[in-house]
Amino acid sequence: MKGWVKSENGILTLIDLPEEQDSTLKDGVFSVKMLKSLITTDDLLELKDDFNRDNYVLGTAGIGIVTTDADENSVFSLKKGDKVYVKPFKACGECIYCKSNVKNKCADLKVAGEDYDGFLKEFVDCTENEVVLLPESITDNDALFIQTISLALNIIDRLNVQKGEHVVILGANNLGIITAQLLKYYQSIPIIIDNSPERISLAKECGIYYALCKDKDWVSEVNEITSGRMASQTVYLQSSGISIKYAFMLSAVGATIAIAQSSPKATLLSLYPATKKELNFVFINTGYGNTSTAINIIVNKAIDLSKLALKTINFNDCGELINSLAEKFNENDFISDIAVDMI
Ligand SMILES: [Zn+2]
Repeated sequence: MKGWVKSENGILTLIDLPEEQDSTLKDGVFSVKMLKSLITTDDLLELKDDFNRDNYVLGTAGIGIVTTDADENSVFSLKKGDKVYVKPFKACGECIYCKSNVKNKCADLKVAGEDYDGFLKEFVDCTENEVVLLPESITDNDALFIQTISLALNIIDRLNVQKGEHVVILGANNLGIITAQLLKYYQSIPIIIDNSPERISLAKECGIYYALCKDKDWVSEVNEITSGRMASQTVYLQSSGISIKYAFMLSAVGATIAIAQSSPKATLLSLYPATKKELNFVFINTGYGNTSTAINIIVNKAIDLSKLALKTINFNDCGELINSLAEKFNENDFISDIAVDMI
């Protein structure tokens, strides 16, 4: 089986992986043939980062086809040919929470493409609770956004946003735009901010009214939009390329700042403005626990995914494109998410 791995020199390389495929459903494990995988700027950051381990398969989200059929006596509820979304995280199974069967609190949640092999490979071995059967009404490309939507839902849950509140989002990549659309859906008021004119115009096309680019004075604009109150809650995306000091400056006294996505980059800044305002911080890394809600959001067409930045490439062309993107990667550049056709 072929898979694209991050090799020691930070280059995405196609290699032969050992066959994991197990068609016998032994111990509840079955094989999924990948149909599409998603590459985001998070993967580009992973490639450039010396901090993480090497020689693992990249790919943050993926959908595929079940290749195993259950026998008559099995409790397996899926069948050969079913289209499934493979959840990109696994509870560790060993911490105190996992052992007490409170897996949503797992102290050492493993993330695909970071802690174990991601989805840029031909087959993935799964257990039934690691996949979700996809409703027929969901397109393959929309299904690739389940992880992004569930992450956005976790951000909103942790902020405990109320109707009518102003929420600043620093970063207008697909995650930022999806978060803004969900906030609108839940009747609060998103203000999205980014240095890239392309990302800001995309946010406007996706129906986000307050979308501010680098040509604006963000502090005075947010002051005006909120009638002097500033943002009740702020979302800071670590891939945004914007200094986190703006999250402090744009937040109201006592506001909560949600810091999302993992980045190995060190930040050196004064916490003085955050202390003066007595801000709260929460960190969100995955969409763990919100997969089903994310699927319902897509089925009910609660948000518009049709205009998001998504480019499609073939599995064999991954190396050339992704290595060249990672080479010149700058957070202020406009880079689409990439849907990889695996067949
Ligand atoms: Zn655990």
